[in-house]
Amino acid sequence: MLNRLFRGRGMGGGRAGGQGRGAGGGNKPGAGPSGDCVCPKCGYKLSHQVAKRCMDQTCPKCGTQMVRE
Ligand SMILES: [Zn+2]
Repeated sequence: MLNRLFRGRGMGGGRAGGQGRGAGGGNKPGAGPSGDCVCPKCGYKLSHQVAKRCMDQTCPKCGTQMVRE
């Protein structure tokens, strides 16, 4: 009957069950933190702000949506 104790151990399986993490990797799309935003229409440049995407900014001169240089 002591065998029973032994057996009980084998069943739990201490390892995390079959979910493999580490696929994917959630990097944000887009380029690095540095660079400028430029107006495609008139060429006006803004220094890119880290928290803001160029797409969210408009050219102060002509109002065109900025793009990343
Ligand atoms: Zn412009």
